[in-house]
Amino acid sequence: NATLLTGSAPTRARFSFEVFPARSGAAALALGNSVQHLSAVGPDFISVTYGANGSNRDASLDLLAYLRDHTDALPLAHLTTVRESREAIRDTIHRIMDAGIHDFLALRGDPPQGLDESAPEVAGSLSALELTELIAEARAERPAFTSVGRTAVAAYPNGHPLSRGRSADIDWLLAKEAAGAQFAITQLFFEADEYLSFADAAREAGLGMPLLPGLMPVSTSGQLRKVASLAGRPAPPALERALEEAGGYAPELGVEHTIGLARELLEGGAPSIHLYTFNRHEQVLAVLADLDLLPAR
Ligand code: FAD
Repeated sequence: NATLLTGSAPTRARFSFEVFPARSGAAALALGNSVQHLSAVGPDFISVTYGANGSNRDASLDLLAYLRDHTDALPLAHLTTVRESREAIRDTIHRIMDAGIHDFLALRGDPPQGLDESAPEVAGSLSALELTELIAEARAERPAFTSVGRTAVAAYPNGHPLSRGRSADIDWLLAKEAAGAQFAITQLFFEADEYLSFADAAREAGLGMPLLPGLMPVSTSGQLRKVASLAGRPAPPALERALEEAGGYAPELGVEHTIGLARELLEGGAPSIHLYTFNRHEQVLAVLADLDLLPAR
């Protein structure tokens, strides 16, 4: 028994986190504290959103640099193409790599406020697939010691907003893998089967890269509505009702739901879980503690 011989702990499921740049000085102080707690439990990486909900893009780069300099966690940069020229995107990739950050989540990006998917500036943006190719080119141009790192892409278990159906979603994901993506992170969803059946169908179609389920322990009714709109599915009625009965704020309910979901996903073969933290460490660490995924103190 290798575990007994080496004295090392049995293999545990892995996990990673997502944070977003703070919008005020006070929020930045709180986030600095939270990322210290998050990094202390040894995630595979901490990803930083880019331009989501109109946030400042330079603030994302500052937060990545903070993670690189002041924590032990591996920073992973979300990067989007929406409303950017190929040259500007190439410059940004180089800027991020030159700052010592080599791991990316390649995205097309949300339409800016006031525009929808059909706006020419949005529809004409480079796709995540083209961004994955640009990142691969940039890696090839860099010296070997700065070109390491991995590229992730997004996956949609309940369908991309413009999807014509599951097989179109899977074909698009396969194309992103062929363009150089090494793993995928999913959009939020509520039921384990939504992820597991998508993952099965993708494997059958030839997907080789790991597919990390994205999970968020919600604390408020407002967050639950947001997740439902991203998931493209109504929230579980029991969770919705319980949150409302608690006055719209009950972090323990979101934690409980996420624990149940994560357990089913890991038992069903998910390689790891990716937790959307909403810039708080308490809830996601409570989830990991219950699943016994935290390192021994
Ligand atoms: P792509 O894969 O390039 O897809 C965009 C375009 O490709 C579509 O407009 C369409 O033309 C085509 N397409 C793709 N799939 C299909 C299909 N099945 N059928 C038909 N056409 C298709 N947004 C941000 O702005 N910042 C972030 O930091 C951010 N982080 C995210 C993290 C995760 C894990 C996820 C899942 C999403 C994130 N998003 C973020 C949102 C994301 O950018 C949007 O969902 C965007 O609409 C699509 O991005 P994409 O990378 O999946 O784009």
